[in-house]
Amino acid sequence: MITTALKGDGSKPWLDPQAKPQIVIEGVTKTFGAVTALDNVSLGIYQGEMFALVGASGCGKTTLLRMLAGFERQSSGRILIDGVEMSDVPPHERPVNMMFQSYALFPHMTVESNVGYGIRRLPLERAERKRRIEQALEMVQLAHLGQRKPHQLSGGQRQRVALARALIRRPKVLLLDEPLSALDKKLREKTQFELMDLQYEVGITFLVVTHDQDEAMALASRIAVMDRGKVMQVGTPSEIYEFPQSRFVADFVGTTNLFEGTVTVAEPGMVTVQCPETGCELKVDDIGRFAPGQRVWVALRPEKIRLSKQPASAARVNELRGVVWELGYLGNRSTYQIKMASGKLVTVQSQNERRTSQWTIDWSDEVYMSWQADAAVILQA
Ligand code: ATP
Repeated sequence: MITTALKGDGSKPWLDPQAKPQIVIEGVTKTFGAVTALDNVSLGIYQGEMFALVGASGCGKTTLLRMLAGFERQSSGRILIDGVEMSDVPPHERPVNMMFQSYALFPHMTVESNVGYGIRRLPLERAERKRRIEQALEMVQLAHLGQRKPHQLSGGQRQRVALARALIRRPKVLLLDEPLSALDKKLREKTQFELMDLQYEVGITFLVVTHDQDEAMALASRIAVMDRGKVMQVGTPSEIYEFPQSRFVADFVGTTNLFEGTVTVAEPGMVTVQCPETGCELKVDDIGRFAPGQRVWVALRPEKIRLSKQPASAARVNELRGVVWELGYLGNRSTYQIKMASGKLVTVQSQNERRTSQWTIDWSDEVYMSWQADAAVILQA
């Protein structure tokens, strides 16, 4: 079994100029009549990655997956897998397999037969076929349920049968369309970890489509965020979260506060932004991409903000004042909506280290919100 998956071993082939991507998507466009489902998409995905495509409904994720599987043909551009151009390769000859959203299990067949269906066309001896089925079922820990029918399984078990059926052909790349969407929240979280472990064990490249950004953040080695047929940003989950490159990505992944403003000072390493809505200057660390007069957005994650009843600094930089407008207690953390004099609401999140009865900040309290210059990101307007 190949064991070159990327989990925990620190390897980041996308940072290595010598490394060649296993899947190369080059300027791919797909139109359906007047609809442009994919607009000049280019991506490189490396062997052993758990790569996630995320984006709102209709942004083109499934179209891209179907194109890799060979069910759709691109209008222009090229797709290569292991250096081979895929245009003229029919689906069953491609080194990929797809696991569908609905799992598409046959209700009248046993688990074993469903899994065996994945290798029905391969010229294998009976004993070898049986061995492969057993191996695939063991891989997903279902060896004991081989004789059941799909309706006698839980949602999570059905998902694992579908995985076993997709993996039994030993593809180089497994395409997964919303693999966890049929599961409830608790089971989804558990299954996410199982999926990551399984991917690590088999060492196959997994390309996962999901509209759930939390799922992508939890699962993926890298994420491509898509919007209306275009790839907006590609990066590791932390790059996408901490350094979004556009308002769209900042807004799509997690919650973010956005302040519109104008650059007043651009010093080495630091930019000062005047924002009409905040009533104070915002200072943001930056590598010198912006100049005075430029319109920008300052993006600030709710958990980077410190709430207090007293002002944190005399300088009043990166410190906003407001009143507690909404307060949500979520067990391990609390979410606040703070209303400023301008009417703008700012979302703040803090961990609950103490018991509820000891809370010091309550509805209608006047509070100060402060943060460090390296906590925010500055984005082009
Ligand atoms: P979802 O998360 O809802 O599945 P998606 O991001 O996977 O969405 P796609 O299914 O790839 O989106 O669709 C992208 C766009 O292409 C949509 O506007 C869709 O309506 C359109 N589209 C997809 N398939 C076809 C088709 N066969 N004929 C016409 N339009 C299509």
